[in-house]
This record gives sequence, C-alpha cells and structure tokens, in this order.
Amino acid sequence: MNYKIVRLNTASTKNIESTILIIYTGGTLGMAYDHTGALVPFNFGQILDKIPAITSLNIAITVISFPEPIDSSNINIQHWKDIAYIIYENYDSYDGFLVLHGTDTMAYSASMLSYILEGLNKPVIFTGAQLPISAMRSDARENLMTALEIATAKVNGVPVVPEVCIFFNHMLLRGNRSKKVQSVHFDAFESENYPVLAEAGIIIDYNKNVIMPYKPSNQLRYNSAIDTNVVILKLFPGISKHMIESVFKINGLRGVVLETYGSGNSPSEKWFIETLEEAIDNGLIIFNVSQCNGGRVIQGRYETSRDLLRIGVLSGGDITSEAAVTKLMFLLGQEKDPEEVKRRLSIPLAGEMTMIKS
Ligand code: ASP
Repeated sequence: MNYKIVRLNTASTKNIESTILIIYTGGTLGMAYDHTGALVPFNFGQILDKIPAITSLNIAITVISFPEPIDSSNINIQHWKDIAYIIYENYDSYDGFLVLHGTDTMAYSASMLSYILEGLNKPVIFTGAQLPISAMRSDARENLMTALEIATAKVNGVPVVPEVCIFFNHMLLRGNRSKKVQSVHFDAFESENYPVLAEAGIIIDYNKNVIMPYKPSNQLRYNSAIDTNVVILKLFPGISKHMIESVFKINGLRGVVLETYGSGNSPSEKWFIETLEEAIDNGLIIFNVSQCNGGRVIQGRYETSRDLLRIGVLSGGDITSEAAVTKLMFLLGQEKDPEEVKRRLSIPLAGEMTMIKS
C-alpha cells in the first residue's frame, strides 16, 4: 500500500447489528466548488457532517479514505489494487464493503474488482452521486444510505448480495455488467445485458434468481497481477490500414478490445482481415466486443464477421467494453500461457458475460 490510511470510527456503541467498511476514493459525491467554480474532492469528515443520520444507525462504520480523494477520471491500476487489498485485508472483520467512487470510471473499477477478488462471498457495493452531497437536490444521501442497507443485508446470517455491484438511482446492478450512460440525469448507469439485481422503493426488492449465490466454501483470493498492454480500438467507417497498423505496432501491445458494429461485424475487405490475421499470427489477442449496449457478438452470423471467426478473433459475446478491457488486463497479468488467456477470456470469470457460442 503506497498511501496513508485515514480511519474514522463512526460506530455508535449501542445495538450494533452489522459492521461495514467504507472506502472513500473521491468522486462528485464528496466534491465542493473551488474558487474557480470547478468541482474538486474534499475529505470524508466533511461528508459525515452533511449526513448526521449516518452516525445513529445500528451499523458500526469504519471509513478508510484515500489521503487525496480523486476524481475517478484519475483512477489507475494501483488504486484498483489498493481498494481490493483493503477489502482482502479487512475481509473477516466486516459484513460488507462500500466503495464511494466517481461515476466516470465506476464501471471499470467494479469490473476489475470483480476479477481481482476471486471467491468473494460478501457484498462490495460501489456508489457515488451526480451532484455533490452539499447540493440541495443531491442524489448522494439516497445513494449512500441505500447502498449501506444493501451492503449489510442478510437473511439467516447469509449476505443477500455476495458480489461486486453498483447501486445508483434506486437500482442495484452487477458491477461488471454496468455502463455509465448518463452524465446529466440521475439515472447514470445501465446494465443492458443483465437483469437489475434489486430495485429500491419503499422496500428493497431483490431479484434473488439473478444474484450470485452465496457459496459457503468460497475462500477469498487477491489476484493482483495486471498487465496494461492493451488498447480499445473502435471501428468507424473510414478507418484505414495505416491507423490500425499504427495501433498494432505499439511497443509491448498484447491485447486489443476491438469494438465492432452490431453483432460483431467489421469490414470484410481483404486489407482489413489480413492486417488482423497477421497481428494474431504474431501473438496479439483480439477480443471482439460490440459497439451496441445491448445484444451480443455472434461471429459468423453475417458474412462481415465470418472471417473474424476464421482468423482467430475471440468473441466477447454480451460483455461490455469496460468489463472486456479490464478482463483482458487481468488475464494477461494472471496467465503466462496465451492459450490460457484465450480460454479464460471466452468463459465468465465473475458473471461478466453469458456463455458464448462463437
Ligand atoms: N468526474 C466525477 C468522477 O468520476 C464524476 C462523478 O463522480 O459523478 O469522479
């Protein structure tokens, strides 16, 4: 851990029913306007002042704050490892974990955490806000308080949501199925290819059939090796051989998330297929993910994806780009054998994709 931890204990001493660890990383939720009118993160002590009710819950809350809270556009690999390690290290001491995080990269972070924390059996709930907690109409209080309830929910001593999720604007979504789709309205996240895990109205209505089952024998592992030698390459009409080759020539590049059209289609021109084929033959892993938010890649469905299948492009099925690029970084870090990377890319590691056919 290369930064200092600030611990605040907000627990009231009476009738403690659950324990929760909040990891405060920053984001709009805890921001305030500086002298230039720009939003900058402030510290967690100031956040608590805005929600006094938090200290009177029957939940013992410990907060670990990044010493310098960040805008999540500044999130990096080390931050991911640190958040995961904090959870790993404190795993036995808490019923659940809440990660307060900016919305911009929340889906990436939640995806990566779902891979690093293999064998997770407790809730890890990400939340944040579109408006700072100090703003009159802020969504921060609602998101934070409901996320706390979800992170501590148990039935017969068993956690209701033993997986990495995003709670935002009344909806609980699987973290590695989520995507930020709104920067202005409160409904910032969507999970087009996987059902909502719970909806919060006057009660929290859990959709138990689609939540990861609790597995008593699970042992948490902290798999921190990550390799960032990957890119996302988005196709667009007019993309040239020169552009694609320039990307493929990046020093050390090992994997590409290729954002294709519709159900995984690309130009079928000879130069395009040959450029990809040559790169694959030289060891590059190409993972086909659709530019559409909903649906799935089915290589071979159209003539314009048949060649991708033939030359060894791997289908991402219904995975999001966020879950795909983090999965690629994760597997390239974990596995020495490229064949093993390819094999594991094609199967779900943490519920991020539905089994694929091509
Ligand atoms: N730029 C902010 C962040 O991601 C936006 C937010 O929190 O909603 O940290």
